[in-house]
Amino acid sequence: MRGLETTTDVAGSLTETLRRAAAHERLVVLCSFQKEESVILDELLALAPHVRVVTIDTGVLFGETLATWRFFEEHFGVEIEVERALGAPPWTGPEHCCGSAKVAALERALAGADAWITGLRREQGPTRAQTQLVEVDARRAGIAKYNPLAHWTERDLWSRIHERGLPYHPLHDEGYASIGCAPCTLPGDGRAGRWAGTEKSECGLHPTR
Ligand code: SF4
Repeated sequence: MRGLETTTDVAGSLTETLRRAAAHERLVVLCSFQKEESVILDELLALAPHVRVVTIDTGVLFGETLATWRFFEEHFGVEIEVERALGAPPWTGPEHCCGSAKVAALERALAGADAWITGLRREQGPTRAQTQLVEVDARRAGIAKYNPLAHWTERDLWSRIHERGLPYHPLHDEGYASIGCAPCTLPGDGRAGRWAGTEKSECGLHPTR
C-alpha cells in the first residue's frame, strides 16, 4: 500500500491514486455530494467505469443535497446507488444517530467491496491530518481505502471545479465548508459547522487515529 506518498503534485497524486484504485474489480466510491466528490467523480468515472458510486441517505439531508444528487447524475452520467440509514430517527442526538444508523449503512455499502475511495483531506482538521493516499482498512478485512485528495487544499479544489465547470453543492456558496445532515450542520470553515457546540467532529465512518 506504500509508494504513492512521494507524489507531491496534487493533480498527479489524484490521477495516480485513482488509477491504482481502478485496478480493483469491486470498487466503491462514497459520495456525499460535496466539493471533494465533484473533483473525484470528474476523473474517476473515465478511469474506472465499473465503480459503484454510493451515497448514504439518512433521511435528514438538506434539500440542496438532494438537488445536487440529481445534478451529479446528469453531469457525470452515472446512477448513484443509495444505502438508507434504516431505522434512523430523524434526530436523536449525535451520540446515537450516526453510530447506529449511518455506520451500519456504510457497512452494507461496502459489503463485498475490495476497495473504496473517500474524499478525506489532511487540511480538514486534526482527526484527518495523518490521512494517507492509500491505507489498509483494518476495520473491513484489510480492504484498500484510497484517499486521493489527501494533499488537496480548499484552493486546489475550487481551482479545479471552476477550471472544469464541475457541478457543486450550492451550500458551499452559503459558507458551509462541510455538509452533512441538516440537523447537525451549520455554516463554518473546515469541519467547524459539523455538530457545532459539541465535542464531536467525526460521524464514525472514518475512525480517528
Ligand atoms: S449527522 Fe446528525 S442526523 Fe446525521 S446521522 Fe449523524 S447524528 Fe444523525
